[in-house]
Amino acid sequence: RSAELLAHQDRWESNARVYSRHFPIAIADAQGSYVRDVDGNVFIDFLAGAGVLSLGHAHPEVMRAATGQFATLTHGLDFPTSVRRDFIDAQLSMLPEALRDKMKVHFCGPTGANAVDAALKLCKTATGRGDVVSFQGGFHGSTHAAMALTGLLSQKQPIANGMPGVHFFPYSYCARCPIGLRKDTCDTNCASVLERSLHDANGGMAPPAAVVLEMVQGEGGVIPARREFVRRIRDVTAELGIPLVVDEVQTGCGRTGTWFAFEQYDIEPDVIVASKALSGIGMPVALLFYHQRLDTWAPGAHTGTFRGNQVAFAAGAEAVRVVRRDDVLGNVRRRGAQLGQRLAVLQHHPWVREVRGLGLIWGIELADPRGGGPASEAAASVQALALRNGLIVELGGRADGVVRLMPPLTVTADVVDIACDILLDAIEDSCP
Ligand code: PMP
Repeated sequence: RSAELLAHQDRWESNARVYSRHFPIAIADAQGSYVRDVDGNVFIDFLAGAGVLSLGHAHPEVMRAATGQFATLTHGLDFPTSVRRDFIDAQLSMLPEALRDKMKVHFCGPTGANAVDAALKLCKTATGRGDVVSFQGGFHGSTHAAMALTGLLSQKQPIANGMPGVHFFPYSYCARCPIGLRKDTCDTNCASVLERSLHDANGGMAPPAAVVLEMVQGEGGVIPARREFVRRIRDVTAELGIPLVVDEVQTGCGRTGTWFAFEQYDIEPDVIVASKALSGIGMPVALLFYHQRLDTWAPGAHTGTFRGNQVAFAAGAEAVRVVRRDDVLGNVRRRGAQLGQRLAVLQHHPWVREVRGLGLIWGIELADPRGGGPASEAAASVQALALRNGLIVELGGRADGVVRLMPPLTVTADVVDIACDILLDAIEDSCP
């Protein structure tokens, strides 16, 4: 039955589809951390809708809130509604207290890329400047502007440099130091490249409209930024009056063990971009939190038809209630530690360059022991073997050489253990 549905896709859908190539299954239904295909096979889902399904598939209370909303009002443009207010209040309540009163909320088109576009436009309006700084290996989405900020050059982003005025700087990617230093001589020199360029009045770059940064490069291969790197980027941008936009599309809503990942770096961003897991069950919604001093848009300056998905609002407000009540962030930290412990055995594996993670986003970077380059084929084999044994994991990073793990934030200890058994076997078999 899967084959039949895959053949239909093959015949009618764009060649750009990708997940169904890596996972040749057609999905029937899903619950919690499990997905069932149309042939009755059950898989553990460590992809979780690409990080969307923070509370797992079909969380019963969130589904109930959503279906209740379906019965009353589904679409509301940007008219005020009580469910919209409740969603905003719930989201604000999750912000660090010091930030709460300073921020405004903007709803844009419903995807992460839409929100990244909106953030760029807002910062350009507020500063009157044109250029933007982004980081090597980052990912920000597939609209033209978000893609232009995307430093992860791969077959997925063949025209990434399509917009002028985007400047890429090194990210703190210590496994393959972008400026070629050894770890023991490192003084987070990657941060000084941007610092020096911004400070060099005779030949450096003029202050840009924004610096756009992921706290953990997700698609880029799960690379948590070094604390010192982030703090220095924040210091130099604050000093020069450059808005710092943190893209928390993938890391937001609890994924790293705090509501937003930037909280673990003790910084205050000027703009926060969030989307994927806002509703907890995959209803499309995206937003910006931005500092009030950037509130320069005239009415109608950034419109969009889908800025008021009431069902997503209802689900999202309920998701926040569940996250608090069930201490989901505590579960993220505990299960994250468990994953780290189970994966620690890989640290001396000849094919494993690095195992990294924060909360419940983990990456295993494979490198060919012969040449040291990304081990794309081995990673693809790990993914295929894991799927055959009942585990869905995604790849990412340079040349897709990193196995990425993003279970639902509600995953249990038993499921983590089974998934690790499957994964470690798949690595053993793929990397002899
Ligand atoms: N930013 C980041 C950090 C992302 O990981 C993604 C999606 N993987 C996006 C933006 C784009 O989000 P969307 O696919 O919803 O447009």
